[in-house]
Amino acid sequence: MALTLNLEHEAFHLGMLLLVIPLSVFALTLGCKNHGCRRVAAYGIIGLACMILAVSVGHSAGEAIERVLTLIGASFVALAHFRNYRLCQHSTDCNCPVHSIDR
Ligand SMILES: [Zn+2]
Repeated sequence: MALTLNLEHEAFHLGMLLLVIPLSVFALTLGCKNHGCRRVAAYGIIGLACMILAVSVGHSAGEAIERVLTLIGASFVALAHFRNYRLCQHSTDCNCPVHSIDR
């Protein structure tokens, strides 16, 4: 029972990561290119690296370390997306897909 729950937990974690990585890489690369801000990419890379590390070492390092790494990673990814969003709001000449929806 505990093994089954643990495998489901790991599969869920891996599935979320496989969803978050391509979406974040696409959105942050596009945002970084359109807004010319490397900090967005740096925050995103740090965040995704922490989340990948959490899945990679989480099981052997312990659940507390996995949670902390996931929390730090998700926070950096959220910060990257927020900064990207704010840059888009203040930009008058970027050609982001959501730009035309907001204005
Ligand atoms: Zn934009």
